[in-house]
Amino acid sequence: MVLTAAAHAVQTRVADVIYTYRDAVPQRGFRLGDECFVPVEGLSSFGWSVSERGDLVDIKAEGNRLTLPSRYFGGQQCVPLRRALDQIGAGSSWLTTTDTLEVYAPLRELRVRNNRLSANSAVAIKPSVALLTNPTRVIVDLAGARITRRTDQAVDGNVRVSQWKPNTVRLVLELDRGLPEMPRTAIEPSNDVEIDLSPTRQEPPRIRISNEDEPLSPQDVQDINSTLPPRSGQLPLTVDLEGPTATLLSIRLPGVTSPQFRKPDPSVLEVTLSKVQMSLPSDFQLATEAVTSVSTRLSGEDTVVVFQLARPMGAEVWADPTGVQIQLLRPNVGNGRLAGKVVVVDPGHGGHDGGAKSGGVREKDLNLIMGKLISAELAAQGATVIMTRKTDVFLSLSARAAIANKNKADFFISTHINSTGGAAKTSGTITFHHKGQKTSRLLAECIQREIAKVNQIPNLGVWSDGRIYQSGFAVLRATKMPGVLLELGFINHPRDRARMITADFQHSVAAAVVKGLRVFLGDAETNE
Ligand SMILES: [Zn+2]
Repeated sequence: MVLTAAAHAVQTRVADVIYTYRDAVPQRGFRLGDECFVPVEGLSSFGWSVSERGDLVDIKAEGNRLTLPSRYFGGQQCVPLRRALDQIGAGSSWLTTTDTLEVYAPLRELRVRNNRLSANSAVAIKPSVALLTNPTRVIVDLAGARITRRTDQAVDGNVRVSQWKPNTVRLVLELDRGLPEMPRTAIEPSNDVEIDLSPTRQEPPRIRISNEDEPLSPQDVQDINSTLPPRSGQLPLTVDLEGPTATLLSIRLPGVTSPQFRKPDPSVLEVTLSKVQMSLPSDFQLATEAVTSVSTRLSGEDTVVVFQLARPMGAEVWADPTGVQIQLLRPNVGNGRLAGKVVVVDPGHGGHDGGAKSGGVREKDLNLIMGKLISAELAAQGATVIMTRKTDVFLSLSARAAIANKNKADFFISTHINSTGGAAKTSGTITFHHKGQKTSRLLAECIQREIAKVNQIPNLGVWSDGRIYQSGFAVLRATKMPGVLLELGFINHPRDRARMITADFQHSVAAAVVKGLRVFLGDAETNE
């Protein structure tokens, strides 16, 4: 069993901070009432510079200089983040269900006049631009930004503005002729964004078939709900955005709610549309390299849309007033090769901390055997491997995470064996990732899939560590790289235990873990 509950002062809770567009890895903090205290050393991840003067901390943030008092939490010098955000003009809000603080850039001004966009905030925002054809539209996303009651907003009639995600404002410009010159490089984050989207080149003539492509405002949807469009015929599936790390697809079916999705394989996404009977022609092709093929099948009153992805990808599926949105996320995997990557392998427990124990088998010993076999397999394939322990010694959870962070590891893999408190009812393997971390989730999917092929015990799937502890597992929360925690089986279940102590299990599962990592990287095919 994993015993990771961190001890903190009674009234604080561990919190995650998502800072504007810098949302890849949340920063850890401590929630006290409505305030969020963040360790001084973590502030650089917001692009802030910091110097300490005893109990005072001088900060340069978003072009402002401020001085704040500090307090100690978990042995770390921390500053009150929301007080700092107030002073620099940033906004922040707690998510209602988790201790996550979202920091955003409130827009002071948002204008589009004659296809020239200007946006302004006290805090830097990150713009990105994409072109869509049929009909010709330009989509500008302002990542990190929120529209508030105070936003001075003035846009021309061909522009739609929406708060597309909690921290992203989306503008859609309809152009009747020509296309703007696309920026050749990414536009740098700034608190003063100016983009010229005037058409400079002609596009081929096109025929507009109908108004069906018009996205709808929530008011439109209320009106339309009584006369919903037909739910049969060809599925209105299009590519809305194509970027280097994400592809956005949409199914224009206003009124469809809570689409279900599952990933039977890291490279396959199935989206179920309730009370929809639609299909796609057999030669249908989506204009994106992210999807190799897409098909539909009927399931009772519903339609299941099956996407074969070009590689293992993360997926998010949600409904908005225009229909169903599907975001496919490609991880940044460098050159995509395991050789040369740094992997920290962390056999759980050790020394006086034996972990779970049953039938004369100790978790700490099995964890070490598995850690060594995984490490040997990684090294044989050219990875640089660092083990947090190679012998039966005790190591704190923070020391394990520190080894991975200090060595700037590319991946973190922790090996554990599960146990239930009472009778031996549960059997099977679970791969955990830290809650909210999409890249780690995808890595977990790839590894769990390979383990399930060889382990000969049940596949309990991929779990967020938030299902076990509200703040997740300490080692996954504190490590800064994609990471997984393997619970390879239940030590108190006789069948799992008998299987786990075999050399066949140990060697084949170790090889499967490495194979899963290679599949994630694009360095191996899952059916190879
Ligand atoms: Zn454990």
